[in-house]
Amino acid sequence: MKYYLIAFFTLTSVLSCKINNSNEINIYSQRHYEVDRIQYENFEKLTGIKVNVIKAGADELLERLKNEGKNTPADLFVTVDAGKLQKGVEIGLFQKIDNSVINSNVSDDLKDQNGYWIPITYRARLLVYSNDRVSESDLSTYEDLANKKWRKRLLVRSSSNAYNQALMSSLYANLGKEAVTDWSANVVANFARDPKGNDRDQVKAIAAGQGDIAIVNSYYIGLLLSSEKQSEVDAGKAVSVFFPNQENNERGTHINISGFAMTKNAPHKENAIKLLEYLTGIEAQNTYVNNSYEYPANPNVFPSKIVQSWGDFKRDTLDLNTLGIYRNDAIRVFDQTGWK
Ligand code: FE
Repeated sequence: MKYYLIAFFTLTSVLSCKINNSNEINIYSQRHYEVDRIQYENFEKLTGIKVNVIKAGADELLERLKNEGKNTPADLFVTVDAGKLQKGVEIGLFQKIDNSVINSNVSDDLKDQNGYWIPITYRARLLVYSNDRVSESDLSTYEDLANKKWRKRLLVRSSSNAYNQALMSSLYANLGKEAVTDWSANVVANFARDPKGNDRDQVKAIAAGQGDIAIVNSYYIGLLLSSEKQSEVDAGKAVSVFFPNQENNERGTHINISGFAMTKNAPHKENAIKLLEYLTGIEAQNTYVNNSYEYPANPNVFPSKIVQSWGDFKRDTLDLNTLGIYRNDAIRVFDQTGWK
């Protein structure tokens, strides 16, 4: 009898240990925002499911997933570019996610047509301009950035950046190879300086008088305006936001999503689904908009007050997987036209 009892307790402790170990989720993340830590902490408190995050560049993480194959500990991959998600799908790293809660939580036009990835937020790659040296009526479209009137006045980061590659992919898809190559050459001629720094640095450069307009992601303006550093608030206040390509006959402003995909052999699939249900739900969507100033993927949630103050805009409805499909073409255009 005693023997059986010991065996029983040994077995149950082994089992409960196993259950504890599996009450977690492993995420490979390219995102670099403070809000993610808050989200995962809130989710942990709510569900008791531990969220482990490994951060690195998107290409690095995709490579790692490929090498680890079906033995990967990762359940989810999250990135700030639909193009990278599309690339992962192409390599065969992910499984489809078909869940009614998640599906009804997010806007249809932000979804992956093939059902592999889930958008959590989106961002516009828009224009900001100097309040002192540019008037709103000078601005119209991305195409117009090639205009001679912007000679030595345009600021933008380097072409190695995924945000620029996605923008160039969208222009390639919309304009075609010849027109986009011309466009890029003229845009490079309009640079106020060689590309350097991140999006926030372009805004700071406008504030410092080093250029007059810049291409940046929308949320960085929200982050600057709400910064604890007065110099960043001042930089944010020195510029205004402009959504290009808004006229009736225009396609809309280029957007990209932040999104999750589930690995093919996710060891904690149920937990991962729970996390995605949570992140696309009202509470977490409000946490995103108020901390990272991104736009919510859930149409029932409003952007933050700062972001709302810029007004609504028409977004380019190009299939977001296109951003991955044209990525290599986009890189070739950058190289051919000397966009460093
Ligand atoms: Fe960013």
